[in-house]
Amino acid sequence: MATKFDAIIIGTGQAGPSLAARMTREGMKTAIIERKLFGGTCVNVGCIPTKALVASARAAHMARRGPDFGVTIDGSIKVDMKQVKARKDGIVRQSNQGVTNWLGNMENLTVYQGHGRFESANSVRVNGDLLEAEKIILNVGGRAFVPDMPGVDDVDYLTNSSIMEVDFLPEHLVIIGGSYIGLEFAQMYRRFGSAVTVVEMGPRLIGREDEEVSATVKDILEQEGIAVRLQAACIGLEQRGDQVAVTASCEPGPEAIVGSHVLLAVGRKPNTHDLGLDKAGVETDPRGFITVDDQLRSNVPGIWAIGDVNGRGAFTHTSYNDYEILAANMFDDDPRRVTDRITTYGLFIDPPLGRVGMTEREVRESGRKALVGKMMMARVGRARERSETQGFMKVLIDAETKKILGAAILGIGGDEIIHSLLDVMYADAPYSVIQRAMHIHPTVTELIPTMLGDLKPLE
Ligand SMILES: Cc1cc2nc3c(=O)[nH]c(=O)nc-3n(C[C@H](O)[C@H](O)[C@H](O)COP(=O)(O)OP(=O)(O)OC[C@H]3O[C@@H](n4cnc5c(N)ncnc54)[C@H](O)[C@@H]3O)c2cc1C
Repeated sequence: MATKFDAIIIGTGQAGPSLAARMTREGMKTAIIERKLFGGTCVNVGCIPTKALVASARAAHMARRGPDFGVTIDGSIKVDMKQVKARKDGIVRQSNQGVTNWLGNMENLTVYQGHGRFESANSVRVNGDLLEAEKIILNVGGRAFVPDMPGVDDVDYLTNSSIMEVDFLPEHLVIIGGSYIGLEFAQMYRRFGSAVTVVEMGPRLIGREDEEVSATVKDILEQEGIAVRLQAACIGLEQRGDQVAVTASCEPGPEAIVGSHVLLAVGRKPNTHDLGLDKAGVETDPRGFITVDDQLRSNVPGIWAIGDVNGRGAFTHTSYNDYEILAANMFDDDPRRVTDRITTYGLFIDPPLGRVGMTEREVRESGRKALVGKMMMARVGRARERSETQGFMKVLIDAETKKILGAAILGIGGDEIIHSLLDVMYADAPYSVIQRAMHIHPTVTELIPTMLGDLKPLE
C-alpha cells in the first residue's frame, strides 16, 4: 500500500527545503527524501566549507603580509590544519543542523532518510516505503565528475567531498582542472603551505571568462607560487610509491608532475543515473541533466526538476531562484521564468571575481554595438589604502540602449560590488543612473561612475 502525499520532494539541496516550507504552508501534505546530508552540496561539501577554508587561508596570507602594513609578528606563521578543519566543521555543522531541525519541525512534512527512486510517474520508493503523489519535485543535485582518464582507478585521488576530511598539510597538491572549484582549492592550499600545481587541459584558466580575466587570475596565483600547467592535452595518473605522478603531455617523456596528493576538479555530474527516471519516463539530455522548460517542468506532467540537476545553473543562487520560480508559478499566479534571470556568479579566490551578464566575447559574438569601460584596481584609492591593488573592473554597455550588458570585477570586494551593477540591470535602467548616484567615499564602488565616464567603443 502506498502512502499518499500531495507532493514528494527528492533531495534537500538549496531548493527542496524552501519549497517544502512553502508547500506545507499552503496546506499540502508533503514528503521530502534525503539519502545523505541535509542541506546537500553547498552546505556540506561546497560553498560553505570552501568559503570557511578560504577565510582561514586569507588569515594566514594576511599574517604573512603583516610587514607590508607595518605589523611585526615575532616568530613564524604556522597553520594548524586540524584547527582549520575544526573551524570549518563547526560552521558546516551549524548550517547542516539548521536545515535538519527546520525540516524536522515542519508541520505537514514527513522526512524520509534514504535513497528515493521512481516506481512510476507518480510513485517513489524509499527504503521499504512506497510513496505516491500527483506532484514530484527533483532537487537531487550533482556530484564530482571523475573522468575516465588513464590510471584513475589505480591512484587515491581527492574530490571536493573527500578533501573536506583532510586535516593535514599535503606536501604537494596537484589539482586537475583550472576552473572555479579547482582554483579556490589551489590558492587556499598554497596559503596553508602546500606546494600546488594546477593542471588544465585548455589553453587558459577559467576558459569561459574573457582572456584578460583568465590571464590576471593566472598572474595572481603564480605570484603566490602556484605552478600552472596549461594545454595538458593527455592527462594520466600513476601511483609511484606514496606519490602520484600526473602526466600532462601526449608525448612520452619525463614530463610528469609528481605530487603527494591529487584533487580532481574537472566538473560536476547530475545525480540522475540512479533515480529510476526510465520508470517515470523523464527525459534527460546527453549529459544526464533533466530537460526542463522555462518554468522547470520536465517532459512528464507533474514532475519538475530544480537546481543543478536541470543543467540550467550550477550555483546555490540559481537553485534557490528555481525554487522561487516554481513557487511563483504554482502558488502566486506569477509566471516567472528561468530566462528572466541574469547570469551572475563569483570566483572566490582572493581577490575575488564578481561576474554578471555577458562577457566581452559574448558581446562581440552578438554583433551589437557596444561600449567598454575599464579601470585597474591600482587606480582605486580604497584598494591602494588596503595594499590590495590586484585586478581590474570592466563593464560593457549597449551603445544604443545605454543598458549594461555585462561586467567583471576582479579585485578586492569584487564579489559584493558586482551587485551594484546587477541591480541596475534588473531595474532595466541605463548606466547613467549610476553616474547620478552619490556613492560612499572611500569605497571601490565609488569609482564605478568614473569608469562609466570613460567609455570607449568596443573595437
Ligand atoms: C566545492 C564547491 C564549491 C562551491 N561553491 C559555490 C559557491 O561559492 N557559490 C555557489 O553559488 N555555488 C557553489 N557551488 C555549487 C553549489 O554547491 C550547488 O550549485 C548547490 O548546492 C545547489 O545544488 P542543488 O540544490 O541542485 O542540490 P545539492 O545541493 O547538490 O543537493 C542535492 C541533494 O540531493 C540528495 N540526493 C541525490 N539523489 C538522491 C536520491 N535519489 N534520493 C534522495 N536524496 C538524493 C543529495 O544527497 C543531496 O543532499 C559549489 C560546489 C562545490 C562542489
